[in-house]
Amino acid sequence: MDDQDAISRLKAALGPKGFLEGADAMARYLVDWRGLYRGPALLVARPATTQEVSACMRICSEAGIAVVPQGGNTGLVGGSVPRPEDARCILLSLDRMNTVRRLDALDFTITVEAGCILQNIQRAADEADRFFPLSLGAEGSCQIGGNLSTNAGGIQVLRYGMARDLVLGLEVVLPDGEVWDGLGGLRKDNTGYDLKQLFVGSEGTLGIITAAVLKLFPKPRVIETAFVAVRDPAAAIELLSRMRAGTGDVVTAFELIDRGILDLVFANVPGNADPLAQRHDWYVLTEAFGAEGSSGLRDAVEQVLGRAMEDGLVLDAVLAASGAQRQAFWKIREDMADAQKHEGVPIRHDVAVTVSRVPEFLARAIPACRDALPGARIIAFGHAGDGNIHFNLLPPRGGDKSAFQGEMARMNRVVHDIVVDMGGSISAEHGIGRLRRDELHHYKSPVAIALMRALKATLDPRNLLNPGKIV
Ligand SMILES: Cc1cc2nc3c(=O)[nH]c(=O)nc-3n(C[C@H](O)[C@H](O)[C@H](O)COP(=O)(O)OP(=O)(O)OC[C@H]3O[C@@H](n4cnc5c(N)ncnc54)[C@H](O)[C@@H]3O)c2cc1C
Repeated sequence: MDDQDAISRLKAALGPKGFLEGADAMARYLVDWRGLYRGPALLVARPATTQEVSACMRICSEAGIAVVPQGGNTGLVGGSVPRPEDARCILLSLDRMNTVRRLDALDFTITVEAGCILQNIQRAADEADRFFPLSLGAEGSCQIGGNLSTNAGGIQVLRYGMARDLVLGLEVVLPDGEVWDGLGGLRKDNTGYDLKQLFVGSEGTLGIITAAVLKLFPKPRVIETAFVAVRDPAAAIELLSRMRAGTGDVVTAFELIDRGILDLVFANVPGNADPLAQRHDWYVLTEAFGAEGSSGLRDAVEQVLGRAMEDGLVLDAVLAASGAQRQAFWKIREDMADAQKHEGVPIRHDVAVTVSRVPEFLARAIPACRDALPGARIIAFGHAGDGNIHFNLLPPRGGDKSAFQGEMARMNRVVHDIVVDMGGSISAEHGIGRLRRDELHHYKSPVAIALMRALKATLDPRNLLNPGKIV
C-alpha cells in the first residue's frame, strides 16, 4: 500500500469530521506548547471512537506509517509532536473522544474517554459530590489520556499520588490495532502482570489509551490555604513535617516558591498581587483538606504556623479568608509557567530528590549554576512536598537569548549530575519525550535501558508508535 492509498483508507475510516489536512488546518497540532518542537504529518486524524483509533492503527501498521498520539498538547518535553525526520507519519489527536462514559458514586469511580479535558473530569466528579484530585496548571487544556501517558503529578500528589495511583483500569489500542479492554475498575486484581501500569507513563510509545477508569474521593468539606514566607528551604521542609503531624496528615499541597519566580509573575502576568506586605526570599503555598465537621483544621494550621514563627522557621503568613483569596493564591502558582515565557526560553529542569534533601539540592545546584553560567537568572519552585523542584535558568536581562540556549546541554549536565549524585530523578513528572531522551540514556543503567527497549520491541516491533521518544 502506498501513502496515498493509506491516506484514502484513513479518510474513509474516519469520515469527513475525522481528519484535517493542509498546512494551515494542521498547524496548531504540529507545534508543541512552548513553540520549541515542530514536525510534519501526512494527516491529522481525529477519531471519535475506539474502533476508529483501531482502524487508524491497523491501516498505518500495514502501510508502515508512524503514528504520534496527541492529547491536549501541553507536554513540556516535545513528546506530542512528530520529529522533523518523521515525514511518513500521521498525528492522532484524541480531542473528539471526550465523553464521560459512566460515574459510579458508590464505587467512587468515573469512566472517561481519553480526550476528556482534565478540568471537565474534575467538574463531573464535583457535580456528583465526589472529588477527582489530579490538578495541574494546564488542567483547562490537558487531557486525561495525556495525563496518564505522562503519569502527570501536579499539586496534590502529596495526599493522593500521581496519575498512576489514580487509575483502576484502561482501554488501550495497540500498535497493530488490537484493542485491550482493561476497564474492569476493580480495586483488587492480581491476575498476572498489571498491564495498565505498563501504559501509564509510556508517553504514547507502547499503545494509545482510549479510555480509563479513575478513582474518585470524598469531596473535601473544609479547605485551609496558607501563603507563608519561610526562612529558607530547610525551614520549609521542617514546616512540612510539622504541618503533616499537626493536621493529622491532611496536607494536600506544599509548594516551595522562590522570590525570583514571584517577581516574574507580578511583572509579567496581570491580575496578581503579593499576598504579604514585605519581600522575602522563600515562600510556601500549602493547603490542607478536612472532612465534614473538621472545624478545628484552621486552628490546627494556625497553631503549627504560630509555633513555627516562634521558632524562626516562618517569617510571615496569611491564611486565605475566602474562596476568592484562595483562588488568588493559586493563580500566582498557576501563572508561573506563563511568567517565564516572557523572559526567553528557560533552560528547565524537573528534578526530584527525597523530600528531606531538597534544601541540600538547592544549596548545591544554585552555586554550581552561578559558577558555570554567570549572569543566568536562577529560579526554583515546585512540589517540594514530593521532593520535586522545577529548577530553571533564564537568560540574563538583555543577554543573547540564542547563545543562552546553546548552553542547555552543558547546564543540564551540571544540574543532573548533582541530582543523580543525590540518588534523585532527572524527570520527576514531565517525562522524557524528545527533550530528555539523551539525558535518560546517559543516566539510566544499561539494564533499565535494555528492559525498556525489550518492551518497546515486543509491543511495537516496527517502531511505528511515537518513534524517537523515550527509547
Ligand atoms: C502551564 C503548565 C503547567 C503544567 N504543570 C504540570 C504539573 O504540575 N505536573 C505535571 O505532571 N505536568 C505539568 N505540565 C505538563 C503537561 O500538562 C502534562 O505532561 C500533561 O499530563 C500532558 O497532557 P496532554 O493531554 O497535554 O498531553 P500531550 O502533551 O498531548 O502528550 C503528552 C505525551 O503523551 C502522549 N499521549 C497523549 N495522549 C495520549 C493517549 N491518549 N494515548 C497515548 N499517548 C498519549 C503524547 O504522545 C506525548 O508523548 C504542565 C504544562 C503546562 C503547559
